Amino acid sequence: MAMAVIGKRPHVLAVPFPAQGHVMPLMKLSQKIANCGIKVTFVNTEYVHAKVLAAKSEDEEQRGIELTSIPDGLMPEDDRENAFIITESLVRTMPGYLTDLVEKINWENEDQKISCIIADIAIGWILDVAKKMGAEPVAFLPAAAAGMALILHIPKLIEAGNLDINGSMMQSELIDLGDEIPPWKRNELSWSFSSDLKTQKIFFECCLTAEETAHQAKLLLSNTSLEIESSACKLIPKICPVGPLLSSNNSNSSASGGSFWVEDTTCLSWLDNQPVGSVIYVSFGSIAIFTQDQLYELALGLEHSGRPFLWVVRSNLANGSPAEYPNGFQERVANRAKIVEWAPQEKVLAHSSVGCFLSHCGWNSTMEGLSMGVPFLCWPYFADQFHNQNYICDLWKIGLRLNPDENGLRSSHEIKTRIAMLFSDHSIKENSLKVKEMSLESVNESGSSFQNFETFINHLKK
Ligand code: UDP
Repeated sequence: MAMAVIGKRPHVLAVPFPAQGHVMPLMKLSQKIANCGIKVTFVNTEYVHAKVLAAKSEDEEQRGIELTSIPDGLMPEDDRENAFIITESLVRTMPGYLTDLVEKINWENEDQKISCIIADIAIGWILDVAKKMGAEPVAFLPAAAAGMALILHIPKLIEAGNLDINGSMMQSELIDLGDEIPPWKRNELSWSFSSDLKTQKIFFECCLTAEETAHQAKLLLSNTSLEIESSACKLIPKICPVGPLLSSNNSNSSASGGSFWVEDTTCLSWLDNQPVGSVIYVSFGSIAIFTQDQLYELALGLEHSGRPFLWVVRSNLANGSPAEYPNGFQERVANRAKIVEWAPQEKVLAHSSVGCFLSHCGWNSTMEGLSMGVPFLCWPYFADQFHNQNYICDLWKIGLRLNPDENGLRSSHEIKTRIAMLFSDHSIKENSLKVKEMSLESVNESGSSFQNFETFINHLKK
């Protein structure tokens, strides 16, 4: 790997896909890069840029990072929460806007031109802009290496008759890529969670594009580590694992950075008043939504658990609307529950009062929870989250599944029962602490992610 340095000093342009679970980890990586004295320009879409600025707290500072924005090509009334609509628009418009931006930056910064573009794998086609502008094309993978290994295997799986050309599983009941990588069942491929074939096909095509990007990029920086995903990492030639990416590892920044919502920090002082290891932290990330019926069951399950809980209820959690609670629920749990719209998640998970993470198993949440040694109750919602659940429950053995009933609902009884099981399972707690050690070792000096990152920085500076 040799990084082309065009100006005298390196300058990285970091471009995330415009979604919370993509912006946050790339911001953490950017902060690590900036901490090494390298200038970073972070490019959000205008819509996301406005959200990030509005949610930023006063003491939050991204030192050495310039936040900027480009249009997303959509009209004001278009649905920006729809990943397909936004992706279709970005494919059309982003290369042009980015080229203009890089030209402007290079014109204004004679001795600090853009020397490297780090593009989220979901918009990896912008690496063409990097090549055109003489900058180093680097991709960023905010998801598990296992998912990427699966994507790289797609041509072989099609050839072997495991998948048809639309990504549907043909003969076998499982796809197995080797030891220490949980196999995928029919509905667990990151594109096959939906029974709607059209949705499946669109997701599958995104994966094929990611496969091309992985070949095109000089390097694939990933929010994972050799310790956590050694087998999967071995299947990806250009992977450079630098995770877990945590803001707590960024010495000059305790702020999350890149949050779309204002973090309600009152939950931290609430946690201070709860017994050690007692609290269920309930959060489903930024995208998952539920039916009102399902939310009722969850509320009752938490209530019947008898334990303190901190629940992140986004204002759109009930199918896009504010949640309604069972009659009298809030009064009954008032002395042991805290409900917030958005939490400082890393700090919550690091708090000694938290004893369980009821999670949708998004990859960022997975990395954060395991790095803090918190046992999981898994409730995956879509895409790669089903496979992340398999990692958590079957390989690392740091959590339990919440199983749906015949109508697809997680009943209050199931929720209450699994909470009790998790809190009384000592081996899961022990495993969680072991995985935590392993994960944090990788970012300690002499750890694999630490060294990979150092190598990357040295090449940037060459
Ligand atoms: N997050 C947060 N506060 C919350 C809920 C989530 O800061 O109340 C952060 C969380 O720490 C993670 C990100 O939002 O970094 C969500 O990413 P993830 O991959 O877990 O899920 P997604 O939102 O992509 O489904």
